[in-house]
Amino acid sequence: MRAKTFRTWMQYLQSKDRLAVIDKNVSLQYEVAAVSKKLDGKKATYFTAVEGYSIPVVSGICSSREDFAEALETDQHGIIPKFTEAVASPTPCRLVDHTEAPVKENIILENINLMKMFPIPVHHEKDSGNYITAGLFIVRDPVTRKQNVSIHRLQVSGKDKLGALILPRHTFHLYKQAEEEGRALECAIVIGVDPVTLLASQASTPYGVDELEIAGSLRGEPLEVVRCETVDIDVPAFAEIVLEGKILPHVREPEGPFGEFPKYYGPRSNKEVVQITAVTHRNNPIFYTIVPAGYEHLLLGGIPREASLFQTIRQTVPSVKAVHMSPGGTCRYHAIVSIKKRNEGEAKNAIIAAFANSFDIKHVVVVDEEVDIFNMEEVEWAIATRFQAEKDLVLVHSSQGSKLDPSTEEGVGSKMGLDCTVPLNSEPMRYLKVYIPGYDEIKVDDYINSEATIKSVHSE
Ligand code: MN
Repeated sequence: MRAKTFRTWMQYLQSKDRLAVIDKNVSLQYEVAAVSKKLDGKKATYFTAVEGYSIPVVSGICSSREDFAEALETDQHGIIPKFTEAVASPTPCRLVDHTEAPVKENIILENINLMKMFPIPVHHEKDSGNYITAGLFIVRDPVTRKQNVSIHRLQVSGKDKLGALILPRHTFHLYKQAEEEGRALECAIVIGVDPVTLLASQASTPYGVDELEIAGSLRGEPLEVVRCETVDIDVPAFAEIVLEGKILPHVREPEGPFGEFPKYYGPRSNKEVVQITAVTHRNNPIFYTIVPAGYEHLLLGGIPREASLFQTIRQTVPSVKAVHMSPGGTCRYHAIVSIKKRNEGEAKNAIIAAFANSFDIKHVVVVDEEVDIFNMEEVEWAIATRFQAEKDLVLVHSSQGSKLDPSTEEGVGSKMGLDCTVPLNSEPMRYLKVYIPGYDEIKVDDYINSEATIKSVHSE
C-alpha cells in the first residue's frame, strides 16, 4: 500500500518527483504557507529548516485529483465509486497495543507547550495567530462508543490550549450533550496520517458512523488504532503526532479571524476551548499543515461531497453520469453535473436534487454526458451554446446557503441552476459538435521532425 502511513506516502511522492525538499531557512510566519502555495497542485513541500524548530513541516501531500486517485490506488474516474462503496460498508478498526504503535514512542504528560514543541504556522495575513489546520479531531459517543472524526481549525490560544471552530454537526452534537450534563468532552487531535485516512475523515455520513472505519474500507484492511493515555479515544497507531485533551464545558474564548476555504476570513468570536492533557508522537515527528483554500484543502472537502451529491442525484435521476465540485466554486458552492437525459425535464430535477443535497450548493450546471465536466472550458462552452435563460434557468431565492459566502445575508441567499442539456427533440445536426476524423487516434509526435528546420524544407 503506497499510502499505508504518512511516511510511506512521502516516500512515494519523492519517488515520483512530487516532493520538494526545502532546506533553506524559512519562517513559520507566512513563509511556510507562501512557499507551499506556490507549489500548490504541483508538489508537496517538505521544510527541513523552519526557524527555531528541528521538526520538519510538510504541506500539500494530496493537492490534485491525480494524487488522491493514486493514494486510493485507482484512476480519477474510480475515486467517487470507491469512496461511495467505502462509506456504505465500513471496516472496524484493529486496536493494537503500545509496542505496535509508533505514535507512543514519546509520551509527554507535563509541561506541555505546543508552540515550543511543534512548528505550527501562521498562514494568512489577517489570521489571529498560529493554527493547526490538519488535525483529525476524534471524539466518542459515550453510549454507543462509536467515534466521530472531523477536522476543525484550531487556534493556539495558550501553551496548552486551543480555540476551536466546531460547526453544528456530529462533534458539536456530542459536545452539547456533554456540556448540558456539565461534562467536558474528551478528544484527540491527530496530525500526520496517510492521505486515505485524511480523506475518509471528510466523509458525509449519517450520525454514528466512524470515519476511521471508512478509512479501513478504503485501505482494504482495518486501520490500526491505539488507546490514548489520558482520554478514552483510539487514534491511528502510525500517526506522527497526537494531542489529547478535552473541550471544556461552559467556556468560550475569542478565536479568529482565520482565512477559510472560500478565500475570505471567518470572523473573530467566542468559541469552544480545548485543554490539552497529553502529547504523544513518533521519534523524529513530522508536522503537517494544510494551507487553507489551497487545492489540498478544497479537494479534501470536495471529493467526499461529490460522492454524497452523486448518490442524492441518482435517487432522482438514475442516468446521472458524474458530478464535479470545481475549485473555482470553492469545491462546495458550484456543482457541475452530467447526465444521459432520457426524459425532458430531468436536468431540472437534477438541479433540484443538488440543492437538496447540501445547503452549501449555490450554482448548479447540468450538461449532457459528452461534455467533460472536469474541463471548465468545455463547461463554459455548454453554458454559452446550450443554455437560454428564459427556459433553462432555475432560481430559488431566500434559501439557506453558506455563512462563509460574504454575498449572503447570514447565509441566506439565492440559488441558481442552469440546464445546459440539449433538447431531446432537436434536429440531429443542430447540436452536433464538430469533429475531425482521426483526431483522437493521432499521436502528434509521430508527425514532427525535430531535426528539420524551415530552411531545410523551404528554401527561397
Ligand atoms: Mn461524522
